[in-house]
Amino acid sequence: MFEYLLTKEQLAIRDEARELVKWVPRQMILDMDQDRIRFPKEFLAEAGRRNLLGCRYPRQWGGREMDWVTTAAILEEIGTLGYEFACVFGVGAELVCDAIILHGTDHLKEKYVRPLLRGEIFAAECLTEPRGGSDFFGATTKAEDRGDHYLLNGQKRFIVGGEGADYFLVYARTNFDPAAKPQDCLTAFVVDRGPGVETKYLYGLMGCRGGGTARIVFKNVMVPKENVVGQVNGAYAVFNTMMIPERLGTAMMTIGAARPAIEIATKYTARRKAFGKIIATFEGVSFQVAEAVMLLDACRSMAYTTARAVETGQEMLRIRRLVSETKKFITESCQKVVHNAMQVVGGIGYTNVFPLERIYRDIRLASIWTGTSEVMSMITAHEWYREFLGKEIRTRPRDHEADAEEAFAAEEKIYE
Ligand SMILES: Cc1cc2nc3c(=O)[nH]c(=O)nc-3n(C[C@H](O)[C@H](O)[C@H](O)COP(=O)(O)OP(=O)(O)OC[C@H]3O[C@@H](n4cnc5c(N)ncnc54)[C@H](O)[C@@H]3O)c2cc1C
Repeated sequence: MFEYLLTKEQLAIRDEARELVKWVPRQMILDMDQDRIRFPKEFLAEAGRRNLLGCRYPRQWGGREMDWVTTAAILEEIGTLGYEFACVFGVGAELVCDAIILHGTDHLKEKYVRPLLRGEIFAAECLTEPRGGSDFFGATTKAEDRGDHYLLNGQKRFIVGGEGADYFLVYARTNFDPAAKPQDCLTAFVVDRGPGVETKYLYGLMGCRGGGTARIVFKNVMVPKENVVGQVNGAYAVFNTMMIPERLGTAMMTIGAARPAIEIATKYTARRKAFGKIIATFEGVSFQVAEAVMLLDACRSMAYTTARAVETGQEMLRIRRLVSETKKFITESCQKVVHNAMQVVGGIGYTNVFPLERIYRDIRLASIWTGTSEVMSMITAHEWYREFLGKEIRTRPRDHEADAEEAFAAEEKIYE
């Protein structure tokens, strides 16, 4: 995040995040990438000890009552360690706890949020199923009402932190009426790791290794009724707020993940020679660096603007659009940033002598998880048409369509 947009307090907490980044041993990064560490508990415990997890939340539950701009500054710094660090940092504290803080009871906040923010327990978010992630409301994992508890059966896949989590935020079907709208059929639950919950660590991931990404199988798991988050059949409301940290947070941390790539490329191209000249003096090289720097700055601007939109309480359809377009633009732009960085470093950039190849592999996830780019475009289009054709069209200051010579040739304006 741009320093000149941050207050002294925000800068101080950004610097705390930088201290945590310095604390991480090099070997931890290497071991995670090699799957020698399957889930970085020590990292999350340290983040919790430093009170850096969930800084947006009320102090009562362990947060620091900071805002979304501060969250952006922290997530960018954490992202510089590697995408998987930001994934595990975000999933428990930023996503799962956000849902419990906004929709859960005080009992759930006390039991599940406070210890997580202290770095003592860990959580994962379970939306995606083997049958699909984009069509989230078509989920088939089911929770049947058995009087004093729900009986949970089904499975989820690609769950970041699944390997190390003590509890899971699970979306499951509770309304089996075939005539019901899909948005009225799911409930969100907190599910403890316990009898009937099985974790399978089975993915050979391209990148983002060491984040505990797992398949979770639920077999006749008894979930107490008090563990419902929000209303029964009301998961739509929970998801509607949770998609903000999920997608805006993803965007913010992706900026951090891309940043080291362009820093490495800048240093390299300022020293490396070809044809007897420093390669940064070739426009073919320096313009690729310039493009990357421009994209990163544009990403930060967009992240900041959308963060302010959320903080100032804009109407939900506008927030959904802004968050979706921000997630798509930033994740795709940052992939281009890393692509350019590797290109200008040349062959050695493709080896493990530089971490560019790891960053390249890791960051590819950004435009797939927490909603694909295609789904982001779908939401952006949907909300834009609703917003423009609804309120905006009636309140626009001028009818620009009339500013054409033949604007009133109604017989030429054929629409079907
Ligand atoms: C490493 C990793 C970590 C993950 N972490 C988590 C996690 O912690 N929790 C969790 O719940 N999930 C997680 N996911 C799942 C991720 O969010 C999903 O993979 C993603 O939402 C896409 O779902 P899918 O893989 O089932 O693809 P599908 O939904 O099958 O989509 C396949 C393709 O079709 C496109 N598509 C689908 N529908 C449409 C449409 N209507 N219009 C246009 N295109 C469409 C998609 O954009 C995509 O390109 C993770 C995934 C990975 C790989």
